[in-house]
Amino acid sequence: MQSPTDSFKSKECIFCKIIAGTLPAEKVFENENVFAFRDISPQAPVHVLIVPKQHVVDILDVSGRDMEIFQHLFKAAQQIAAKLGIAGSGFRTVFNSGDHACQTMYHLHLHLLGGTQMGGSLVG
Ligand code: 5GP
Ligand code: ZN
Repeated sequence: MQSPTDSFKSKECIFCKIIAGTLPAEKVFENENVFAFRDISPQAPVHVLIVPKQHVVDILDVSGRDMEIFQHLFKAAQQIAAKLGIAGSGFRTVFNSGDHACQTMYHLHLHLLGGTQMGGSLVG
């Protein structure tokens, strides 16, 4: 559920503006619940951000009926991986939450990374 402060935050949110089409982005997928676009600073040949259309800040901001958001994001990840040709070769999905994970954008986003052989370290 959104609080009054959430509606203020979402007006300032870059990802909400991308979803609304008022800021440009290279869209790769969209449905009723989810929007996905190429990361502006890609860390792999395929680096897509998959975001819920609903403004939620991070994993901790999702509860109750909103938990369906995670189903929508991972279903989209399956479809986008197939569409971009990385389902067979493999890919990584990442949520960053908070300071230690270096979260910089405070609209929940699932990173989808692939198209290259990645290293085994997840924290380096
Ligand atoms: P975080 O560190 O919060 O998990 O990841 C935020 C991601 O958003 C970063 O990979 C960053 O490159 C990407 N990003 C930040 N601003 C923009 C933008 O305006 N457009 C796009 N397409 N990606 C952005
Ligand atoms: Zn937002």
